[in-house]
Amino acid sequence: MSDSLNPCMTCGACCAHFRVSFYWAEADDAGGLVPVELTEPLSLLMRNMRGTNVREPRCVALQGEIGGCVSCGIYQHRPSPCREFEMSGEHGVLNEACDRARARYGLPALFHPSLPEMTERCPNPGASLPAEHVQSPG
Ligand code: SF4
Ligand code: SF4
Repeated sequence: MSDSLNPCMTCGACCAHFRVSFYWAEADDAGGLVPVELTEPLSLLMRNMRGTNVREPRCVALQGEIGGCVSCGIYQHRPSPCREFEMSGEHGVLNEACDRARARYGLPALFHPSLPEMTERCPNPGASLPAEHVQSPG
């Protein structure tokens, strides 16, 4: 295992850029994992993480300082969009959404397809959202 620090652990930008929404039954009051008190209703069938459906989002579960040392306070119980979102460069695939979130906080893009493939896996202390779940607030 590499000693190098995973970029997500000093980022967290995606947890403070997108609306994190998911099917309501992912909340623990419906048999899912996500603590319902950290969520709020979004529509009849959807909920979102509290703090993410505003113009300047920041997930209520995010701990630490963006661009510093960050972690997800509900990592084992985070919703599906957070599990599925991959940092740019994971498996050699560009994730423009990761780049966009990082750029908001002045953080450089992690990857360009012309560079050698990144091999570090992202444990994603703050991860998030696949494109189909990503909606910018406001
Ligand atoms: S997935 Fe990208 S934006 Fe999200 S924490 Fe990791 S590096 Fe930052
Ligand atoms: S990974 Fe954790 S802190 Fe980040 S958006 Fe998901 S629940 Fe929130």
